[in-house]
Amino acid sequence: MPGARLILVLSPGLDAEAIARAEQAVRRAGADPRRLVAEGDRVAIEASGLDRTHAADVPGVAYVLDGSPRYPRVARKGEGTRVVTVRGVPIGGPRVVLMAGPCAVEHEGQLEECARAAREAGADLLRGGAFKPRTSPYSFQGLGDDGLRLLREAADRHHLAVVTEVLDASAVGLVAEYADMLQVGSRNMQNSALLRAVGRQSRPVLLKRGMSATLDEWLLAAEYIADAGNEDIVLCERGVRTFDPASRNLLDLAAVPLLRDRTHLPIAVDPSHGVGVRSAIGPMTMAAVAAGADAVMIECHPDPGTAKSDGFQALTPKELVRIGAGLRAVATAVGRS
Ligand code: PEP
Ligand code: MN
Repeated sequence: MPGARLILVLSPGLDAEAIARAEQAVRRAGADPRRLVAEGDRVAIEASGLDRTHAADVPGVAYVLDGSPRYPRVARKGEGTRVVTVRGVPIGGPRVVLMAGPCAVEHEGQLEECARAAREAGADLLRGGAFKPRTSPYSFQGLGDDGLRLLREAADRHHLAVVTEVLDASAVGLVAEYADMLQVGSRNMQNSALLRAVGRQSRPVLLKRGMSATLDEWLLAAEYIADAGNEDIVLCERGVRTFDPASRNLLDLAAVPLLRDRTHLPIAVDPSHGVGVRSAIGPMTMAAVAAGADAVMIECHPDPGTAKSDGFQALTPKELVRIGAGLRAVATAVGRS
């Protein structure tokens, strides 16, 4: 993105020479530096016309802010990630959070097995759709209100929080009665009425990426929610559509560090929908954590062959527990827990 107005916040404690070197590097990159603030011993340089990719090469830079973001409420404002707390579970802190459960809530027994496995795998949130946004109107659409109730009961039995999708603005109040976090799905990422509606209530929101949305479009969707009053938003990468049918979607893990530069919102990754191939979900979960994801979302089913939706990508409870163990190892390796 050439020509952006960027704010390069320098590391604390730089001497005059180091600051001058940073300004020189900005000039060499073809941009115009202006010394901005001195907060304590910290200096920032406004650089108009600097390419973002060159910003990282300027010596002494701690982090880069967008000087004139189109999404001022969700744009990064300083160092660090916003911590979004879902029923006492912090997302965006040092601990990587696992959200797991079935694609759709089908019946109590199915949910019970998923919830137990989720807990055993180290999950803090139980996922599951009561209202399903299916591609075909003839596919299972979810249990609706009954599904919400079953989800709440299973989560309570296993001390889990509930994240579930809300499909339209008129159902926000109902879903918020049962859920601790409201999911806006890929197919609804640009439904501005729904974005405003989840923004007017206080439950945290999991905003999935539209299947062909750019990072800017996604952040602008988050801006709708924040502008309506709710800044407790977690972004969830779930794959984008490309040319290759070998996978359901192309899981864009580069989105994690790219978003990290642009926003302070926590970032989740859903490798289940992102790849849609059971054998690839474990490795891509590890890769997501290595890339810096704050949370991961995984679908499971006690008997994937009979699942009413997305059975082909569902992990068995046993596989989920195994992934949970791997997740802990990778999280530790990248300085998380
Ligand atoms: C889901 O998580 O249940 C779902 C439908 O995912 P997506 O919106 O990413 O397709
Ligand atoms: Mn699904």
